[in-house]
Amino acid sequence: MSRRTVAALSRSLAQGEFSSTELTRDYLDRIKKFNGVFNAYITVTEELALAQAAAADQRRARGEHGPLTGIPLAHKDIFCMRDVLTTCGSKMLANFISPYDATVVERFNAAGTVTLGKTNMDEFAMGSSNETSFFGAVRNPWDTERVPGGSSGGSAAAVAADLCAMATGTDTGGSIRQPAAFCGITGFKPSYGRISRWGMIAFASSLDQAGPICKSAEDAALMMNVMAGPDIKDSTCVDMAAPDYMATLNDSLKGLRIGVPRQHLAKGLGAEVESALQEALKLYESLGATVHEVDLPNSHLSVSAYYVIAPAEASANLSRFDGVRYGYRCENPVNLEDMYKRTRSEGFGSEVKRRIMVGTYALSAGFYDAYYLKAQQIRRLIKNDFDNAFKDVDVIIGPTTPHTAFKIGEKNDDPVTMYLEDIYTIAVNLAGLPGMSIPAGMHNGLPIGIQLVGKDFDEARLLNIAHQYQQNTDWHLQRPEV
Ligand code: GLN
Repeated sequence: MSRRTVAALSRSLAQGEFSSTELTRDYLDRIKKFNGVFNAYITVTEELALAQAAAADQRRARGEHGPLTGIPLAHKDIFCMRDVLTTCGSKMLANFISPYDATVVERFNAAGTVTLGKTNMDEFAMGSSNETSFFGAVRNPWDTERVPGGSSGGSAAAVAADLCAMATGTDTGGSIRQPAAFCGITGFKPSYGRISRWGMIAFASSLDQAGPICKSAEDAALMMNVMAGPDIKDSTCVDMAAPDYMATLNDSLKGLRIGVPRQHLAKGLGAEVESALQEALKLYESLGATVHEVDLPNSHLSVSAYYVIAPAEASANLSRFDGVRYGYRCENPVNLEDMYKRTRSEGFGSEVKRRIMVGTYALSAGFYDAYYLKAQQIRRLIKNDFDNAFKDVDVIIGPTTPHTAFKIGEKNDDPVTMYLEDIYTIAVNLAGLPGMSIPAGMHNGLPIGIQLVGKDFDEARLLNIAHQYQQNTDWHLQRPEV
């Protein structure tokens, strides 16, 4: 029963085909059997899940349910969850029990979902392979020698291997879309400000955004209906009611203008990804869309600008982890300075330290103008490029990643090759736009994703465009043998 989409599970629950308790037990059994292989979960909340499932069954019996009541999900371990270990993939928080729920968690709880546990992730969401986690690498369900992508790799692997029906993720430079592409599932990053960041451990606050990781655009719409909307606790969350994302899924694509960035078809793109993209564009044409070339002339600067801005913000955000109030503290400090130094040296992994050093450097008095300010100016140019492109087209479609999932350990020697993994996704965060990855092909047994980018707050249209593709193809229904 557990290998279906959320939409299908929701119908079965409504028809009484099985109860949420039965469904939850099924997922818990699968987690027991397979989590040892994939390492997708850091924490499994079995007791809580069974209690929530029983409550969901009662709600359904009373007719007080929504579409997601009783659906088992997993939260990326970046979301604070009350009375549950919340580690952010770091030794620094390996003992941190959160005293409160993130807004995203609270909203799913209110919708009656069942929380199976917290998923593994790159430390503080820094990475593209899930190898920087203090809790060990996650393995890709399509090939356990390969990475699932990162930083939401645990969520993506859990969805792909059916260790949950849906999961939450966060995306600062690609961390929802890239793992979705590598694991053959659907990942959706909304516009910056669409979903509250309250209770989501901060990496780079002007870029971080939560979103759904699931099996279809329809599932993403169901999740968005719970997650999106204003939150008084987060002033960067826009004060604008979210629409019903299910309502427009079946709108026609006749007359849709698709832009394909010239820069995305250039050197560096794998032939297999390019041909999957071309096939997808043909399908869209058959549905009434037209395809146009668009120009994003500054997109080649996005990775460089991001690796100044994101570390700068991270260096400030991570200064709170000092061993004083919560989290890791070194043993037997001789004085305060020793305590700060050793706590941070021992508590953070090497990628996190690298980012703190780069960020601190870029923000320091002599270098601020040369690096941080310059990067912010480039960020503006990148946003202008998108604004110009969207004068002529409704959506931009291109690859999510240059290639399919790579081998564990393959890119560990040179951080820059790892940073280039997000070459197609990062500009979208810098511009604050909604983006998503959907499965669009397979190559040597590994999934290929394509990326759809929409106008500001045009999430509903993006989900509609993805849903129509999935109504006419079955890439999103492919599952790895587990
Ligand atoms: N891979 C990028 C990084 O390491 C993006 C991570 C993310 O989106 N959280 O910063």
